[in-house]
Amino acid sequence: MKFISNLGVFICPHIFENTRPILLVIHDEGDWQCLCGQYDHDGKGHLVGIGHLIQRDASLDELFDLQDGWEAERASENDAWIRRFVNINQGTNPDTVQ
Ligand SMILES: [Zn+2]
Repeated sequence: MKFISNLGVFICPHIFENTRPILLVIHDEGDWQCLCGQYDHDGKGHLVGIGHLIQRDASLDELFDLQDGWEAERASENDAWIRRFVNINQGTNPDTVQ
């Protein structure tokens, strides 16, 4: 494992309950979030060690070098992660807009 296994990550209720796969990973200001990528969230998030998530989905481990201010998204568990620069304060870097 390349991540530190007890690195704390925020997850949405769907990931916590394992009802949806992790399709969106956000690294923002030192915080990591592993989310289902959908927006129907009314429950509270949870904080877990990333090692638990990597045991469930080993492909997460390849995001260990995702830089702060970036996020990675994929269409399904079988798709590759696509990384993109996100700066919430300044908007999307125009150099990375497709
Ligand atoms: Zn969710």
